[in-house]
Amino acid sequence: MTAVLEIAGLVRRFGGLTATDNVSLTVMPGEIHALIGPNGAGKSTLINQICGELRPDAGAVRLMGRDITAATVPERVALGLGRTFQVTSLLDEMTVRANIGMAVAAREGRTFRLWDRLAGRASVWAEADALLRGTALEPRAAVVVRDLSHGEKKQLELLVALARRPAVLLLDEPMAGLGHAESQEMIGRLAEVGRTTPMLLVEHDMDAVFALATRVSVLVYGRIIAQGSPDAIRNDPAVREAYLGAEDELA
Ligand code: ADP
Ligand code: MG
Repeated sequence: MTAVLEIAGLVRRFGGLTATDNVSLTVMPGEIHALIGPNGAGKSTLINQICGELRPDAGAVRLMGRDITAATVPERVALGLGRTFQVTSLLDEMTVRANIGMAVAAREGRTFRLWDRLAGRASVWAEADALLRGTALEPRAAVVVRDLSHGEKKQLELLVALARRPAVLLLDEPMAGLGHAESQEMIGRLAEVGRTTPMLLVEHDMDAVFALATRVSVLVYGRIIAQGSPDAIRNDPAVREAYLGAEDELA
């Protein structure tokens, strides 16, 4: 079976600091692979190298067997690499529905300038509505993004990412800043999405990680110190050691 996403030996230095030190991992079809690790471990640096915002000093990124190490961010998106942002990338003055419609249209290679013409296209709206159906945002379809809560924006980001029909999704802390009920809602959504879209999930919320992940990698000081099933990771002495002082997080 070919990995949907394969990272091989990624190295990235900032001056004297090696933020990712020969990191390798795969995301297989059907997998939700969680990447955990203390603050400063190099998780965001790794995600940024995968999505093309940061050049690695060594190593390779492959998407469905194809080397994309030298590809630009838009090229990677077009090839099926999806992501959500820690800082929201939504269009503030547009409605929930229009944000999703824009992403559907963008997938078809239309440019922003064609939006006026696209707005009349029933297929774009039909697809946007299908993505919204059954979600907590459905009754909020006509609300402009500026008026959404933080949690609603996070949910919308996920729908916008899905509108591009990614082959794999990179999620950098999708639970960040969410309240308990919103987190539960997001976990439910991600579990559902994970049935069709494999993911690499960077997350601090251990409840979410252990509820969702099929496999977990633990990054500490730029290195993967353990990789395995959620149960194996929870009971790994080296992992517990790395989280010392925050042991209850893994309880
Ligand atoms: P995490 O996401 O796991 O908290 P980061 O990837 O943000 O960790 O950071 C890993 C290490 O690299 C940290 O020590 C951080 O200070 C450093 N770092 C991250 N980005 C930069 C940068 N642009 N310039 C210099 N150092 C950086
Ligand atoms: Mg980070």
